[in-house]
Amino acid sequence: MQTKKNISLKSYNTFGIEVKGQLLINITSEKELKQVYQSNELMALPKLVLGGGSNILFTKNQRKAILKINIKGIDVLDQKDHEVRVKVGAGEIWHQFVLWCLDHNLGGVENLSLIPGTVGAAPIQNIGAYGVELKDIFDSLEAYEIRSGKVRFFDKEQCQFDYRDSFFKGPGKDQYVITSVTFKLTTKPRFDVSYGGIQQRLNDQGLQINIHNISESVIHIRQTKLPDPIKIGNAGSFFKNPIIEKPLYDALKLIHKDLPHYPVDSKNIKISAAWLIEQCGWKGKRNDQIGVHERQPLVLVNYGGGKGRDILKLSEKIQVSIQKKFGIDLMTEVCIF
Ligand SMILES: Cc1cc2nc3c(=O)[nH]c(=O)nc-3n(C[C@H](O)[C@H](O)[C@H](O)COP(=O)(O)OP(=O)(O)OC[C@H]3O[C@@H](n4cnc5c(N)ncnc54)[C@H](O)[C@@H]3O)c2cc1C
Repeated sequence: MQTKKNISLKSYNTFGIEVKGQLLINITSEKELKQVYQSNELMALPKLVLGGGSNILFTKNQRKAILKINIKGIDVLDQKDHEVRVKVGAGEIWHQFVLWCLDHNLGGVENLSLIPGTVGAAPIQNIGAYGVELKDIFDSLEAYEIRSGKVRFFDKEQCQFDYRDSFFKGPGKDQYVITSVTFKLTTKPRFDVSYGGIQQRLNDQGLQINIHNISESVIHIRQTKLPDPIKIGNAGSFFKNPIIEKPLYDALKLIHKDLPHYPVDSKNIKISAAWLIEQCGWKGKRNDQIGVHERQPLVLVNYGGGKGRDILKLSEKIQVSIQKKFGIDLMTEVCIF
């Protein structure tokens, strides 16, 4: 098992925060995972499970043992009619998996192109973009249960997927390490091009609707809208879009006629966190090395050399101002360590 001691974690988080890690263990198999949790030497050490570090904010040096999940493998399990089930190791890079699906003409994941991170972390917050969520193509997953030392199977219902949420962020938090995810893909996809300008891009380019062109369009739109973490440190959306009850929405709408909203069900409305942040004057605000992105106010950024605790403080100030102006609690999407 490969281990590293007293290392910089800067290249292990897309915010590019410079903190030290006392111990980093590279996990390439379930067997190694078991060894780590059952070794006398490591058993007592608290642990932090790490994928691509694209949804985390380090606010201090890490004394926990960091388990960098690198379990690889993409295997076709079976095909029934047009449905193909594919089992993927938790350490595979999400976008590499999307490209694999495109190469094999399998649809379902094309709208989720270019989301950073690993396959194993994708179910944790039920990743989503451009009208599709992980749950739409999810079959099942396997996860190492820390308490029992056994690998457990989870079907879709057991994962309790919700908007940027799952069992693994709630009751199952810190109790499981996901080792593989099985997806249900299709050779006859139903296309969704209604979100975020995909249809417009296809029209502009004179492209027909297929998984390859949808993926290309999503990649293009994302690259023009979102800051590239390689150039400016960030973890994508820092906050979740709040879901509020209809009476509060109706009251807000009386004052703010242009409040962007999306109905969730008959009682709840999802509203745009980016809009709330912009209304409070935060868009493009910069404080030395950190700030709120100039085009996408949902994204907090590290221009270089910024500290995680300063980004956390900034996020708290944003939350306070939104609570004051709108009476809404903005919840973080990013995991703070
Ligand atoms: C530029 C940018 C754009 C983004 N766009 C989107 C988007 O469109 N939609 C979206 O949903 N997200 C988006 N994100 C957020 C991020 O890409 C996802 O949340 C991604 O799934 C995180 O994967 P990761 O491997 O980097 O996880 P990490 O950041 O390493 O970990 C995230 C959390 O999951 C836990 N974890 C990681 N791996 C495992 C495992 N195998 N088992 C158990 N727990 C684990 C960690 O402990 C941590 O709590 C974006 C991020 C960036 C930087």
